[in-house]
Amino acid sequence: KNVTRAHNFNAGPGALPLTALEQAQAELLNFNGTGMSIMEHSHRGKDYDAVHNQAIALVKELLSVPEGYEVLFLQGGASLQFAMVPMNFLPAGKQAGYVMTGVWSEKAYEEAGKLGKAFIAASAKEGNYCRIPAFDEITYDAASAYLHITSNNTIYGTEWQAFPDSKGVPLIADMSSDILSRPIDVSKFALIYAGAQKNLGPSGVTVVIIRRDLLEQANQNLPTMLKYGTYAKDNSMYNTPPTFSIYMVKLMLEWVKAQGGAVAMEKRNRQKAALLYDIIDASNGFYQGHARPDARSLMNVTFRLPNQELEKKFLEQAKQAGFVGLNGHRLVGGCRASIYNAVPYESCQALGDLMLAFQKKNG
Ligand code: PLP
Repeated sequence: KNVTRAHNFNAGPGALPLTALEQAQAELLNFNGTGMSIMEHSHRGKDYDAVHNQAIALVKELLSVPEGYEVLFLQGGASLQFAMVPMNFLPAGKQAGYVMTGVWSEKAYEEAGKLGKAFIAASAKEGNYCRIPAFDEITYDAASAYLHITSNNTIYGTEWQAFPDSKGVPLIADMSSDILSRPIDVSKFALIYAGAQKNLGPSGVTVVIIRRDLLEQANQNLPTMLKYGTYAKDNSMYNTPPTFSIYMVKLMLEWVKAQGGAVAMEKRNRQKAALLYDIIDASNGFYQGHARPDARSLMNVTFRLPNQELEKKFLEQAKQAGFVGLNGHRLVGGCRASIYNAVPYESCQALGDLMLAFQKKNG
């Protein structure tokens, strides 16, 4: 029964809590005494219905989603949201602003440009996305359809520390890689979307939190499955939802709740991140963080070593020692430790120990 769990620093899908996996294992063949796996249940039946509604209720509770918002479950990942947002909310004659903080922002902007008029409201591209633009760098066009931001930049390891007041323009955020890592004020946003596979559960389901008044302004002239309204109208059960993924989201959210919710997640995530950033900062330049300190992500810690040879050696040793997922993205190079909600403090400690020992020997 004692499984050896890897130190999993994968950027996505990310680690899941052991207790959630164990519960899924225990219930896999016989959910609730029904003699069937939850994935064999009808999505119209009462057993699945309860799971579905509990998952929605937990998203609302843990993120303190105010009245007037809907929580939806979609498929197609955050990447489909790049297209659905402009399809629904970028009418002809209007334009939408995009704040460029990394490759995922670029992809969102490119999709919008295929469907309507998008403009760059601010950009941190210069310096290879090592920072987040200051609020006063952002161009607000009061007449624009919405302003889009990426709350955490998975590849570069930067994160918005606070969110701009978008001055009446609906604020839309891709929160795929930091949702529920800290408390947020949902009322600042018109729409939040996140692929589940980093902080909420496995891949296969995308969570959307949308303000109801926005739904009313949406383009109605779209294919059924590409309208947010379809999901809102039928409690995300117009067609068969990704039932097993949603079930896993429910289990993961129960774990988050048991830990103390978003406040406890932030505390834990800050401790985990500080452990690694402190080692980077105390290394006399041996480890060099990619993100500017005031833009550092609590979720993805990106760093370089003095040269590629040492980076290769470090990654090789890490691999030998059982660490998973530490290779940096090719656009940044070096190393990246993704320390999502379910990554235990102990894994960060083990990585910190490895970094210290490696520097001692090679520094
Ligand atoms: N947005 C961000 C911030 C991401 O980190 C990712 C994936 O890593 C995506 C979007 C793409 O998500 P998906 O694979 O769910 O389409």
